[in-house]
Amino acid sequence: MNTSLPDWLTNGHAHIWLPYTQMKTADLPAPATRTQGSRIELADGRVLIDGIASWWTACHGYNHPHIAQAVQAQLARMPHIMFGGLAHEPALTLARRLCTLLGPGLDRVFFTESGSVSVEVAMKMAMQYWSNQGEPQRRRILAFRGGYHGDTFGTMAVCDPDIGMHAAFDGAGARHELCELPTDEARADALEARLHAQADRIAAILVEPLVQGAGGMRMHAPAVLARLREMADRHGTLLIFDEIFTGFGRTGSMFAFEQAGVRPDIITLSKALTGGTLPLAATVASRRVFEGFWSDDPAHALMHGPTYMGNALACAAALASLDLFETEPRLAQVRAIEVLLREGLAPCKTLPGVRDVRVMGAIGAVELERRPDHAALRRTFLEAGAWIRPFGHIIYLTPAFVMPPEDLRRLTGTICSVLAAST
Ligand code: PLP
Repeated sequence: MNTSLPDWLTNGHAHIWLPYTQMKTADLPAPATRTQGSRIELADGRVLIDGIASWWTACHGYNHPHIAQAVQAQLARMPHIMFGGLAHEPALTLARRLCTLLGPGLDRVFFTESGSVSVEVAMKMAMQYWSNQGEPQRRRILAFRGGYHGDTFGTMAVCDPDIGMHAAFDGAGARHELCELPTDEARADALEARLHAQADRIAAILVEPLVQGAGGMRMHAPAVLARLREMADRHGTLLIFDEIFTGFGRTGSMFAFEQAGVRPDIITLSKALTGGTLPLAATVASRRVFEGFWSDDPAHALMHGPTYMGNALACAAALASLDLFETEPRLAQVRAIEVLLREGLAPCKTLPGVRDVRVMGAIGAVELERRPDHAALRRTFLEAGAWIRPFGHIIYLTPAFVMPPEDLRRLTGTICSVLAAST
């Protein structure tokens, strides 16, 4: 094993600004040089089992040859072309395939390049939908405690401030409405009352269906979504599902909303959309929402257009990723992972300091009583050959759906033994 750090790391680190990182005190980042399947190879030759699939994106594992070939073929033809006034096959075919997958009602796709921006676009669509209908006072988005929707100013305003990511910006922008998810009758009544009091000000209800991810891997029953659909309909407001984390199989169905049997008016997708290969996001609107913009008045057009929207390489990767959901048994793999996560994390339940263990689809989370020392834990996991990044009180696994059972058992076993040793 080569223990010296590569030059590009030691020279470049003085010039890079890393995400969510106190640069003064943080360890140097692990120098990754290669990926394959569920593994990350480091410059010193160590190989890590990746427990989080690069922030929940690489659902088919890294370097899937079908995606690589599709991207290479597209690269040779046309890597990128502006989307204003020009169209291309990968984007339009992807739009059609996404709408087919999402099912009737969701049938207009607006492409962007990141999850946060796709949520911003969903919020803009909802607000402008109402102003185009002559109700410009509907400017509020009703979002939920425990929710996370991104780090841009628009999306920070719909995140729960208690998740503690955006305190430096408190007061920098007006917050939207935050409520408790209607997981019981009392909360449902409170939400209903809130909606009733200001129905003519609310543009949309925004929720992460089934699992609030970055807010703490909090899981709720599908009935909560059915209840939100009923309330949105009763109060005449739109319903937005943010499936950036949950979309593409992560919770066990292709989209989380399928488990509730209800459909949103707008859905946001990103992360696993390209199988973790290239940045791409989509905001998909219902016919009703789209028709709210259909007018002879140019001011009724949606005024948004990121330079790289509909990037052809990213769309080619997404099309190849969708192929893999058809040709390889992804959802069956997720079901098998769910069983292994339940078995593998169960011993954590009885450990002192563990508050809860939660599993849904290919998501397994251990919630601790106290916030652990993240840096120390990351170091311990690294030493054990596991790439696991705790946040808040949570240690979690969101593996690639193709992860071999023995690797997954190693990861769950590592979490259990590390927690047992530290409590
Ligand atoms: N919405 C949800 C539910 C997410 O989990 C995330 C990212 O974790 C985002 C939005 C923001 O996406 P991005 O980091 O691509 O901007």
